Amino acid sequence: MSNSHDPYVLDSGARIAVIGGGPTGSFFSIFALKMARMLGKDLEITIFEPKDFAKDGPGGCNRCGGIISELLVQTLAIEGINLPDSVVRKGINSYRLHTEHGSAFIATPALEKTIATVYRGGGPKGIMGDNLESFDRFLLSQAVEGGAVHQPVRVDSIEWKDGKPVLFSKKSEMMQADLVIGAFGVNSTAGKLFHELGFGYHEPSTVTAAIAEISMGEEKVAEYFGNSINLFLLPDKGIKFAAMIPKGSYVTLCILGSKLDGEVVRNFLSRPMVKAVLPGEGTYSVPCSCLPKMNIGAPKVPFTDRIAMGGDAGSTRLFKDGLGAAYLMGKAMAKTAVFEGAGKEHFQRGYYPVYKSIIHDNLFGSVLYFVIDQYRSFDVLTRAMLRTVELEQGRSHDTTKILSSILWDMFTGNERYKNVFMKSMKPKMHINMWEGLFKSLFRGGSP
Ligand SMILES: Cc1cc2nc3c(=O)[nH]c(=O)nc-3n(C[C@H](O)[C@H](O)[C@H](O)COP(=O)(O)OP(=O)(O)OC[C@H]3O[C@@H](n4cnc5c(N)ncnc54)[C@H](O)[C@@H]3O)c2cc1C
Repeated sequence: MSNSHDPYVLDSGARIAVIGGGPTGSFFSIFALKMARMLGKDLEITIFEPKDFAKDGPGGCNRCGGIISELLVQTLAIEGINLPDSVVRKGINSYRLHTEHGSAFIATPALEKTIATVYRGGGPKGIMGDNLESFDRFLLSQAVEGGAVHQPVRVDSIEWKDGKPVLFSKKSEMMQADLVIGAFGVNSTAGKLFHELGFGYHEPSTVTAAIAEISMGEEKVAEYFGNSINLFLLPDKGIKFAAMIPKGSYVTLCILGSKLDGEVVRNFLSRPMVKAVLPGEGTYSVPCSCLPKMNIGAPKVPFTDRIAMGGDAGSTRLFKDGLGAAYLMGKAMAKTAVFEGAGKEHFQRGYYPVYKSIIHDNLFGSVLYFVIDQYRSFDVLTRAMLRTVELEQGRSHDTTKILSSILWDMFTGNERYKNVFMKSMKPKMHINMWEGLFKSLFRGGSP
């Protein structure tokens, strides 16, 4: 526990600068202010965020698929963060899994595992009249309601002065802080500023992903997608998986892989198996697309005295649930800063165990993705996987449906990869797979 002589303890009047008003920065601010109030402390939190999240198109958006688990929606409600219906669309309850060798339907394994969706900004470019609000704008406004100040500027340089970090924008000094929270994600150059401070921080390793908004009108989305995400596991080396997520009158396409370029969306949409799930050409358009970076490797040193990094600028869950990780990291940094202090030792004790647990969990995720890569790359395994899912989904008495629930948890939700891995070790899973393998071989060409 901290003592009053510790120079890093944040007392009333302490100034905290949060660089980035995405989910991590807003969650940090919401929780830090709430926890400080509990202790009767009055912290001054300033969030530096230049984006206007009400704006349509990539300019107002922290580009992502916008999938969140129902469990996260409920957890936030318990925390007092009630996402209104204009922010969150509920009710995705199934997947259609597509492979080179056919498709299979996977229903949600449990009610609390249904999926909700959000838009991170004002919506796809040119969006008109859709009654939606941005997730990031809502969270930022919650932080401001809680007492944070929002400064709509980009921080472009940091220096140390008298043992405290000082932030600048366009050569003007913005503030000297008792603590700086780095919540700037991976799609900005801010990581370089912290790297140059020389305390050991390196920007996270990233891959380039692709996102596109497909506009087709509410009726067509309902007719072609219903309440299902369409998930594609293709044998292509560069594409790990792709998902089409229905959202009102749009479908968000996310392609995750490595070395994706400007052509990837067009090439993907022209594949016969993708065309088969879409309405005819000419009945939809792609008004908005981008190639955001995605964190796939956390920096080893995420904090020092008076500085801590979180969310995508630190560690996040591999290929899914970045928003859930932003909540975990934001809250853990807030708890440490308010109850312990802003020193390196405090973050090592309070924050690092949470930070490291995500890195550790991602190791299980990497193994699972390696296995899934084998399943999507080899015909015989792809067929066995499809047949197993088909058999599981047809058995109403089988409540475990192990492979189906593994696939569900891999691509959505906040289930830890370690739990998914443990599930994949169950003998029943292997018995089901062998049965699927034999049945797919016996049936020849079809899965
Ligand atoms: C293709 C793709 C699909 C994804 N799909 C999902 C999904 O479906 N569900 C999910 O949970 N996660 C998903 N994610 C992950 C999710 O987007 C991130 O984990 C999440 O956005 C991280 O939040 P953050 O606040 O840490 O960073 P960000 O959301 O990137 O926010 C950082 C903020 O910092 C601001 N900023 C940057 N530099 C500065 C500066 N110098 N000064 C001031 N402000 C600055 C930026 O403007 C931005 O608003 C996806 C990611 C990608 C790439």
